[in-house]
Amino acid sequence: MYKSLQKRLKIELDEIKASGRYKDEREITSPQNSNINTSAAGEVINFCANNYLGLASNEEIKDAAKESIDSHGFGLASVRFICGTQDIHKKLERSISNFLGTEDTILYAAAFDANGGLFEPLLDKRDAIISDSLNHASLIDGIRLCKAERYRYNNNDMVDLENKLVDSQHCRTRIIVTDGVFSMDGTIAQLDKICALAEKYDALVFVDDCHSTGFVGMTGRGTHEHCGVMGKVDVITGTLGKALGGGSGGFTSGKKEIIEILRQKSRPYLFSNTLAPSIVGASLKAIEMVSENPSIIKSLKDNTAYFRQEIQKTGYDVKGESHPIVPIMIYDDQKASDIAEFLYENGIYVVSFSYPVVPKGLARIRVQISSSHTKTQMDKAVSLFSAARKKFKV
Ligand SMILES: *Cc1c(COP(=O)(O)O)cnc(C)c1O
Repeated sequence: MYKSLQKRLKIELDEIKASGRYKDEREITSPQNSNINTSAAGEVINFCANNYLGLASNEEIKDAAKESIDSHGFGLASVRFICGTQDIHKKLERSISNFLGTEDTILYAAAFDANGGLFEPLLDKRDAIISDSLNHASLIDGIRLCKAERYRYNNNDMVDLENKLVDSQHCRTRIIVTDGVFSMDGTIAQLDKICALAEKYDALVFVDDCHSTGFVGMTGRGTHEHCGVMGKVDVITGTLGKALGGGSGGFTSGKKEIIEILRQKSRPYLFSNTLAPSIVGASLKAIEMVSENPSIIKSLKDNTAYFRQEIQKTGYDVKGESHPIVPIMIYDDQKASDIAEFLYENGIYVVSFSYPVVPKGLARIRVQISSSHTKTQMDKAVSLFSAARKKFKV
């Protein structure tokens, strides 16, 4: 039987390769950091991790993980509601709620699961989900699992969002769903306007803040802080797998009855193992560090401002404004991938994105800045980008 499937898969794999969309994984032989070792290219400076605060191999974070293994063991071998809840899981949920300014929080194995398990327990066919067209894959999947009516508004387009709010007025509960940061563009959702529209049309607001929690906003609370709407967003999901140490794990945070229902009904929570103690302990430490030491966030903001200023001088079009995701526009698919390869060979690890990940003709290289990058590392990247612009005639 396998023969026929095998044949089909081989054809499909060949098609993926021929279209230039085959994903090769580069092997890293060191911990995640601004400087990493790779088996193919030796030492490179890493500009494509979500390690925004440089906590992925921070000593205090590693110690907290080790201490939690000693105090709470390696694993729980259980879901939360059977025997997988330790004191530290509850402590982390309270810590996230305090940090975000929300009523309660529920942990998941990943933010992908948080988004996958959010909509179906809360909404049915009498309700509506009004979703930004650029939302993350996990939200699209989560929305698919739910029977609510679906409305899609053009990315960041408040006129279109208002139209969809008008169109969906017959529905019982309506929720506006948006990424806090659009990760291919480095742009921030207009949550102030979204919350105002939600108030006008009596809708709820949901934000996926995976590319924000820990570093966007004055004190790193996220896009709701950045946009001045703390307390007005009903539900926030976020990840422990990016800025906050980068281990893994995710959460949903918000109104307490919503969280309570998720604990009763959310399938990825009910039927999947609890977070490992080492991740819980390290994540608690990460939130404590960000809360008590503003210099971590400040160095990310300073680095981002510096890199954005310097890269702009080289003449490339650059998207976004203040976010450490810095998309450098190349437009042409082949050139984007050639430039990323050229940079990699010269010790700068960046990745190019082309269609279908981004629209046709809008290929780009996405640089991600971290608190742990040095000026020297950023200068090297800028000068190589500058050389590439001439070499590849961008
Ligand atoms: C990274 C990301 C996720 C997935 O987070 P995991 O914790 O790795 O599953 C979900 N949504 C958005 C917007 C993300 O950027």
